[in-house]
Amino acid sequence: MDIFENYTEFGPARKSVALSGYTTLRVGGPAAMFFEPHKPEHFADLLTQLERDDIPVQVIGAGANSVPSDAGFDGAVIHTGNMRRIFQDGDGFRVWSGATLPSLVRAAYELELSGFEYLIGVPGQLGGALAMNAGSAQWGIWDLVENITVWVPGKGGHLKIEEHTRESVNPGYRDGNLQGKVVLEALLNLTKSSKPQIKHDQEQLLIKKNKSQPVTIPSAGCAFKNPPNDSAGRLIDSCGLKGLSVGAAEVSDKHANFIINRGGATSADVVELLNIKQAKVLAETQVDLLRELVVWD
Ligand SMILES: Cc1cc2nc3c(=O)[nH]c(=O)nc-3n(C[C@H](O)[C@H](O)[C@H](O)COP(=O)(O)OP(=O)(O)OC[C@H]3O[C@@H](n4cnc5c(N)ncnc54)[C@H](O)[C@@H]3O)c2cc1C
Repeated sequence: MDIFENYTEFGPARKSVALSGYTTLRVGGPAAMFFEPHKPEHFADLLTQLERDDIPVQVIGAGANSVPSDAGFDGAVIHTGNMRRIFQDGDGFRVWSGATLPSLVRAAYELELSGFEYLIGVPGQLGGALAMNAGSAQWGIWDLVENITVWVPGKGGHLKIEEHTRESVNPGYRDGNLQGKVVLEALLNLTKSSKPQIKHDQEQLLIKKNKSQPVTIPSAGCAFKNPPNDSAGRLIDSCGLKGLSVGAAEVSDKHANFIINRGGATSADVVELLNIKQAKVLAETQVDLLRELVVWD
């Protein structure tokens, strides 16, 4: 019997799915197996069964920070996009891992709750955002976390679920420090505000983003993390790299830290451009930039 048949009880399951359809940069070859569970319980059971069968796993949310390889992934990719539920819990939200950031921004606005303003215009889903500690220079989504519920790897195919707080995880700048744990859901604290105030704050941020980022062209956000007290975009720009291209991957001339896909770029093009940027910045400024993009090797 095909091993794939063991997995269909966990929700929608397909074979050979092009990952380019699941990344905002529109790159990535086929996933051998592709799952889209509807509930956190199914997600956890699926992860456990895959570990028991020794099948490599990669989780993907909106793919807004991810660069899967052109060769694809010879294992199971779990897309969280069907687990979109958001529950109001006092002044906070209990959120499943696949809830999109735009839906959280919208729900908080409708309920006059403040907290998600910095995520206006940021694509992604809750699990990916927690894994990346998405946000701005001074703020990350972990600032809202009361607790998260995670599936724990490395238990020999036995289900293990844990609850963690910000203190027990110790996330950093653009790094949720999850160490292989998979987010099933989270409880986020918000504070009472008003629609006019939230709208005003969101608009200010959105105007800034629309001016400085190539928001209408496929990209994956910032390619590199900002080094302490500096900006990766400024350093890349100072090396004259805006507009540089490899194949159809190009350094945005609006924001030097964004790599855009002009149409038909491959992951290999993107990785080559990342390497060129990193090497040039190191040679000219002595700063060794750290990648923010998650490249699947
Ligand atoms: C136009 C644009 C603007 C952007 N602006 C910003 C910005 O202002 N600030 C910012 O921080 N980022 C920004 N980004 C990057 C991106 O939006 C964020 O990093 C976002 O949080 C990624 O979420 P995702 O669901 O797309 O993650 P994915 O790319 O799908 O995954 C990212 C990582 O998270 C892991 N992951 C996904 N789900 C889970 C889970 N349930 N449990 C554990 N790990 C998981 C993946 O395995 C991968 O390692 C921008 C991107 C774009 C395209």
